[in-house]
Amino acid sequence: MKETIITLLKLSDIDKQIHQKRDDQTEIPDENQVLTAEIINIENQISTKKVELNDLEILKKELTNSIQLKTEWITTRDESINDLRTQKEYQAAQKEISAAKKEIKEKENQLAIIGPKIDTLSTESLTLMEKGEPRVAELRSKIQENNKIVSGVDTELDVLNNARNELVSHIEEKKYLKHYNHILRKAIPAISLLENGICTECGTRVLPQTINLLKVGQSMQYCTRCKRILYLHEMLEEAKVTEQP
Ligand SMILES: [Zn+2]
Repeated sequence: MKETIITLLKLSDIDKQIHQKRDDQTEIPDENQVLTAEIINIENQISTKKVELNDLEILKKELTNSIQLKTEWITTRDESINDLRTQKEYQAAQKEISAAKKEIKEKENQLAIIGPKIDTLSTESLTLMEKGEPRVAELRSKIQENNKIVSGVDTELDVLNNARNELVSHIEEKKYLKHYNHILRKAIPAISLLENGICTECGTRVLPQTINLLKVGQSMQYCTRCKRILYLHEMLEEAKVTEQP
């Protein structure tokens, strides 16, 4: 019985590690998702700013071109205005010219608004890139590190599971192993230190009779409340000693 408890103690230690690795396996991908979302957010902010800036620059070009064309047109029209024969034609031409001048004025006003907007957006875009790009690099390397851990965990779990199987094969009293595994599905650890008459995992006081039976080492004893397998401090010491090669 005592042998079995000592083996279960070693098993419990391995199971704690397996549990931790499995936590890593589920938590790391979740963390990577959060990190990826931050990257996407930063990249979206930068690209939105760039698109906004690009649109305004296209508009600026269009307005500048259009002003240039209109100005050229006015010059040509002005030059030929004296060739017009009738007063009616002359007045019509004057009207056209003044409409074109008005159009130019409107476009120049638009340009006056767009210019500073472009400057602001350029500065904002630059600031976003200066701050965002190193952060994205940092996030990417963190994700890479995490992926390395996750791929390492598989190998580590294999090693732990092999060690577990090895220990399990040495347990002759299978009913105790069965009980241990049953508790393990609900609680970690599945085994609890009995100290000063108390189950240290759930804090329940254990009957003196239970303590005596455990000390005698005839049968396995369980906590009445959490049902964990109880062990004594000296058994833990023995488990540690036998662990040494
Ligand atoms: Zn208990």
